[in-house]
Amino acid sequence: MDIARVVVDVPSSQTNRPFDYRVPDKFRGIVEKGVRVIVPFGPRKIMGYVVAMTNKSEFDRLKPIEDVLDLTPILTEELLDLGNWLTEQTLSFYISSFQVMLPQVLKAKYKKELWRQEEELLPENLESLFGGREVIEFEEFEQSGISYHQLQKTIQEGIIDVHYEVKSRETKKTTTMIQPEKDPVSLEEAFVDLPAQAKKQKEIVQYFIEAPEPVSQKFLLGQLGTTRASLKSLLDKGLLKEFKQEIYRDPYENKEFERTEAFELTDEQQEAITPILRCMEDGKHEVMLLHGVTGSGKTEIYLQSIQQVMDKGMEAIMLVPEIALTPQMVERFKGRFGSRVAVMHSALSAGEKYDEWRKIQRKEVQVVVGARSAIFAPFTKLGIIIIDEEHETSYKQEDHPRYHARDIAIQRGIKHNCPVVLGSATPTLESFARAKKGNYQLLTLSKRMNDATMPEVEVVDMRDELHAGNRSMFSRALMEKITDRLKRKEQVVLFLNRRGYSTFVMCRDCGHVIECPHCDIALTYHRRQEKLKCHYCSYEEPMPSRCPECDSETIRYFGTGTQKVEENLQQHLPEARVIRMDVDTTRRKGAHEKLLSQFGAGEADILLGTQMIAKGLDFENVTLVGVLTADSLLNLPDFRAAEKTFQLLTQVSGRAGRHLKPGEVVVQTYTPEHYSVEMASEYDYERFFNHEMKLRKAFQYPPYFFLTLITVSHPNQLKVQEVTQKICKFMKTKLSEEATVLGPTPSALTRIKDRYRFQCMIKYKQEPEQRKLLKRILHYYDDEIRQDDLQISIDFQPYQLM
Ligand code: ADP
Ligand code: ZN
Ligand code: ZN
Repeated sequence: MDIARVVVDVPSSQTNRPFDYRVPDKFRGIVEKGVRVIVPFGPRKIMGYVVAMTNKSEFDRLKPIEDVLDLTPILTEELLDLGNWLTEQTLSFYISSFQVMLPQVLKAKYKKELWRQEEELLPENLESLFGGREVIEFEEFEQSGISYHQLQKTIQEGIIDVHYEVKSRETKKTTTMIQPEKDPVSLEEAFVDLPAQAKKQKEIVQYFIEAPEPVSQKFLLGQLGTTRASLKSLLDKGLLKEFKQEIYRDPYENKEFERTEAFELTDEQQEAITPILRCMEDGKHEVMLLHGVTGSGKTEIYLQSIQQVMDKGMEAIMLVPEIALTPQMVERFKGRFGSRVAVMHSALSAGEKYDEWRKIQRKEVQVVVGARSAIFAPFTKLGIIIIDEEHETSYKQEDHPRYHARDIAIQRGIKHNCPVVLGSATPTLESFARAKKGNYQLLTLSKRMNDATMPEVEVVDMRDELHAGNRSMFSRALMEKITDRLKRKEQVVLFLNRRGYSTFVMCRDCGHVIECPHCDIALTYHRRQEKLKCHYCSYEEPMPSRCPECDSETIRYFGTGTQKVEENLQQHLPEARVIRMDVDTTRRKGAHEKLLSQFGAGEADILLGTQMIAKGLDFENVTLVGVLTADSLLNLPDFRAAEKTFQLLTQVSGRAGRHLKPGEVVVQTYTPEHYSVEMASEYDYERFFNHEMKLRKAFQYPPYFFLTLITVSHPNQLKVQEVTQKICKFMKTKLSEEATVLGPTPSALTRIKDRYRFQCMIKYKQEPEQRKLLKRILHYYDDEIRQDDLQISIDFQPYQLM
């Protein structure tokens, strides 16, 4: 096997296939499936993944592999297959599918440079590109439009040279270790020989006579209260030696986790866990939907199922939405399984993520608890995959490759013959419908633990408040209850949905709203810096003092941002201690956890925040939850608006009264009669499901129909419209009668970063040819995509319809 088939790091449809390379003798046995290599590609040297090894190739003059980056494969056989499947499913590039499975650190950045021979003259265009410099970045060449062919010629002539540097930005971290170089007897002799005044040196030698094992330098120096200087002379004398040892950056290193034992399961829990355990016992793949209200003991079921898996020497993946990956959640897993758990979430640095990943790769852990991408954990003996809060949209990746973690989980579950458990208090309509049809097995927990009841929900009609002359953002009922909690020294969580409720700036005279010059969206006011910012393209400008349209001075900010609520609270309740949690206060690493633990320790009365506080919080003393505006989600242009509102209200309500003290919820809304608000306040999932299913059927939406969303974007509006038109027409003529092709329509966000956006939406039941047709479209526009800045994105399971 001396030919390697390599997928190279050039994401384009032209290069979206393996290329054959010869394995030079020096790399025989090192190059194997799943390792990264550096290969020559045109005039460049680039990174690639070895996806297969073979003996023969259709081509006879193969270039040799330049370098090998891994000594052990970083993609297992299974993950390579999964990557191929993912590529097919999402119509992305092989390279993107492999990259997405690996930690950031391994997607080695390498800097390519062009070096010129000083004494030789270059062709004119290249000469001016170098502009007197000896070295330029390869990127500059790529952007110059000069042909590769010409560059290649100068390279062949030896006038220009390509240099590359693979820079893994964060690699292994090491610590200095010290150990004796001589046997104890020699050390004893040396001890005697050392002059009496070399007290510290003697102490160090004494230490190693007693304990001749390697010890970290830091520990040694600390223990003996000495310095590197004393150590240095012993090293120089050859009595001791030092070496580097790799250490892991364990973010939970300094934390003690209290060990917890498995609870004795309730009858209901027992009934729910039995099919899971049986499925594992039988070594079968099956998808289970665990439907249970918050606090009904789902997590305990996850923990005990995983315990079984570990007892059999197998491995488990536990997915949790990013925002629910709170310290409390981590604690529950670390508390039960200790160091056999790896944790992966976005708050970790790239290096820390890499370390956690390597613990999995090296089989030092058996469980991973993590957000979406942990679904690609390189385990080889999976016994169970669990997805908690399966309805969360963060399980869908909105970038290439556009995968849903649920689909990956099922794919891996089939490969490993193991159960996939989806858990939620408010399952997606898709999953619940599948469970009802019997495609998934439905497991139900209907009761909360300790017979706790779900908190009473009061829906307040904000229109009545207005009529009664209350213009504040707090209804009288909510204010009264907050005041009451402050008196009783209990805690309150106030929830504000960020989307659609950020502060925008408007002129009171002429109604002019300040928008981003690059995107069709209002700018958001940021008080601390007195600036207006765009949330889509990070454009910013100072807050104006006059209206740019009519020059009036009455320009001011509107809407209800968290900052504004906080100010308002302070006006009304100056004695209340408030912790505000939003993107601004949690930007710094660890800030999120710190604020939560402060609240948990009772250092504040009110926790005020955006969606990030809606999930997974569990504080004993919280007895009131307020939702300031239930409507903000309802008004989104999205067929899932009602479902999302129902989910959110249910989640938020679940935060109150989880323990001994009963809880209460106040939901403020301008549309109290909306079915999702009403049914959420009654915790009636089934009724909501039935009602919503009827609407989905009537309007031809999932789960009755599948959707494909094609979004076309380009700086030129006419161009976008024209291309989208063509695509729509093509799909209309090629798909079956049953499919509906909608478009071209401008996207809800018609312009982002100076690019116009149009879309085509396909609703269908069964179109086996669809992928092939879409591939043809991508192929047809390939040149324009590469050279003319055209973008065509295809989403087979769209969650963002804007
Ligand atoms: P969920 O994940 O459905 O929100 P949890 O698993 O967090 O529910 O359970 C809610 C609470 O009840 C937790 O504090 C948990 O420790 C406790 N609990 C769960 N199962 C049991 C049990 N069988 N016996 C006693 N307490 C339990
Ligand atoms: Zn104005
Ligand atoms: Zn913008």
